[in-house]
Amino acid sequence: MHATTKLLAAGWFLAAPLFGQLADSATDPAEDLAKFTREVLIPERLKLIDGDIVVPIDFDESRATFGTSLWPNGRVPYEFATNVGSTNEQRMIAAMQEWESLADVNFAPRNGEADYIRIISDSFNASEFLGRNGGRQRVWITSWTTHGTLVHELGHVLGFYHEQSRADRNTFVQINFNNVSQTACTDSNGNPASCNSQFTIRDPGDSEHGPYDFGSVMHYGACAFSNCTTCAATNNSCATITVLAPNTAQQTLIGQRVGASFWDGRVMSFLYPEDNWVFADDQISAIPFGTFLDPFGLAQALLIVPNNGKVWLKPGTYGGVGRIERPMKLEATYTAVRILN
Ligand SMILES: [Zn+2]
Repeated sequence: MHATTKLLAAGWFLAAPLFGQLADSATDPAEDLAKFTREVLIPERLKLIDGDIVVPIDFDESRATFGTSLWPNGRVPYEFATNVGSTNEQRMIAAMQEWESLADVNFAPRNGEADYIRIISDSFNASEFLGRNGGRQRVWITSWTTHGTLVHELGHVLGFYHEQSRADRNTFVQINFNNVSQTACTDSNGNPASCNSQFTIRDPGDSEHGPYDFGSVMHYGACAFSNCTTCAATNNSCATITVLAPNTAQQTLIGQRVGASFWDGRVMSFLYPEDNWVFADDQISAIPFGTFLDPFGLAQALLIVPNNGKVWLKPGTYGGVGRIERPMKLEATYTAVRILN
């Protein structure tokens, strides 16, 4: 994957001035042309985390994982600010189509909906909120020609956090805090500050889905927030993320911004599943919500799934099911499923 560490770093440097720069409330937040500079923005009550996600000031980062605020029926109304040219509109639409090809999501031009995204051309890449927050939420883009960056920001819109925010990340990568800039970020007063917090684990540990994905378009690059002016992914004195054995060959892959990975698509499709998909978890015996995040037990799933539908089995051991008389598919969401007599 790819050489995209510098792209991510660039996005961060551009975005960094946002952090802690509370907006003058006289600044009309509806005015897209307001520049996110040290003089302006981030609207009050909002803050920047992890370089490119803008969230409410009281946002519970420890619980900030995808799945809590999905778009109903996967439908995401969007509009472009007038400063986005037609070429860049088409680039963004191509990124939308990538997610639409991978999951049951549908980006649709806004037609008066109250909840929508507004895509704005600016000097940094960032998304406001994770998933659907309600009302207008903005997506700012500067790297229009980097398809994977557009896919990445839309990943936040749909609910994805960063891959290296997973609770299990220290098993797979090492964060080299000695190489993390201690001055390039800003505190709430706008003063230079450590970037260490950009590497906080956000996930309490119950939201890892699928294997740790070095190739995720949501993964930071190896040089993100480095204290080196120029940084190579393989330079141990500059890289901020080192992939651990036995996966060291992935060192130059992390941070790729070519597009969504297999697991990006698979996990997104679980969050926004096809209509005839039903999820089952052997840990669940009741409470049949039936989504990937709130799955049925297997017995309920088998009752609920439509004919010729698909029951996805989360890892676990299933038993006592008996005979299935209707046509359906059973598939494992990722691995290690046992079905006993
Ligand atoms: Zn991001």
